[in-house]
Amino acid sequence: LADEDRESRPRLMLMGLRRSGKSSIQRVVFHKMTPTETLFLESTSKINKDNIHSFIDFQVWDFPGQMDFFDPTFDTTAIFGEVGALVFVIDSQDDYMEALARLHSTVVAAYRVNPNITFEVFIHKVDGLSEDYKIDTQRDIQQTTTDELADAGLENVQLAFYLTSIYDHSIFEAFSKVIQKLIPQLPTLENLLNILCANSGIEKAFLFDVISKIYIATDSSPVDSQSYEICSDMIDVIIDISSIYGRAAIGAKSQGYLEDQQDQPEDWTHQQDGHDDYENSNGGGHGHSQAVVSNSSRAGSLNNQPVRSGGNHEAFSVIKMGNGTVLYLREVNKYLALICLLRAETFEKQGLIDYNVHCFKEAMDQVFELKRAERTRREMEANQ
Ligand code: GDP
Repeated sequence: LADEDRESRPRLMLMGLRRSGKSSIQRVVFHKMTPTETLFLESTSKINKDNIHSFIDFQVWDFPGQMDFFDPTFDTTAIFGEVGALVFVIDSQDDYMEALARLHSTVVAAYRVNPNITFEVFIHKVDGLSEDYKIDTQRDIQQTTTDELADAGLENVQLAFYLTSIYDHSIFEAFSKVIQKLIPQLPTLENLLNILCANSGIEKAFLFDVISKIYIATDSSPVDSQSYEICSDMIDVIIDISSIYGRAAIGAKSQGYLEDQQDQPEDWTHQQDGHDDYENSNGGGHGHSQAVVSNSSRAGSLNNQPVRSGGNHEAFSVIKMGNGTVLYLREVNKYLALICLLRAETFEKQGLIDYNVHCFKEAMDQVFELKRAERTRREMEANQ
């Protein structure tokens, strides 16, 4: 079952030299750690199979130590065989020659085993660099890497480069781009989001992985980082409030009132403190606090309540902003939430929007067939 669930999730591997920032990235993106807290992190020393309740299957690997391609017992097939994206982190504030050498040998080894892998290079910690220096560094790293690959006869291998930092949204935006490449259904999802926006007067719609705040799809209108940031902040607010109120659901409707509820959906488990679960490869959702956002009008749950036509029974939340913009969040499945930005006037026709969102969700379910996987999971749990 775990395998079945896993197959439908994009698989991502994070690699790089020690102290390049891998654990920090993992903690900030998946465990809500603040960037300054990462200053006190111990360096990654073993493989981290981070079993998070996220849409994204995420592993962290470390150099040197774990990876020795010259060791004959080193099983590159097992490691790279099923990976979707290999993200290599380079500390841009440090001398990066060794990192580039490791990147090269990694790409060569991985490509041999799995030519479908996408190679992504995070030129990381750029918060410490001036604008000019950033550009120079990227150009230098890009040039050196592609030259060396060409020398090795691998000029067809494509590498993508990103400037990242955990101190701003750049790390999340980079991951969004990386993840989007791994979702074969992306054009369909974008199309569905376009239809939703066009028919509902929505200005911008994002499909977010709730735990990581990485968006996996958006409609084809241009993404401006402000609207992305505001949506990702909305997820934080909602998760925070859910944590404060424990299992009480939130009906953060226009007035922003909160309401306790008895019958709670079990979705959106999230790890409140990554510290305990950090190296636990079988966390599996146990012992995590529940973060639930829910409809304030009634206690509905996606898990034990079939979605009825017009579907008004899933978690949702509304934030109305001073400038006349409404942020509307709706749960899509156990990993994903839809966040829409729209004008307050448009939101007056919430019934229409809800209906369209419902149709969108139905289509999403068909695209991912998550329903089926979820049913199996529940059956398994019931039998335990
Ligand atoms: P790992 O060994 O690759 O897991 O590296 P760590 O995650 O332990 O990070 C090493 C150090 O880099 C820590 O002190 C982090 O605070 C710091 N660091 C990580 N990411 C960034 C970043 O984006 N900017 C800056 N300035 N420092 C970072």
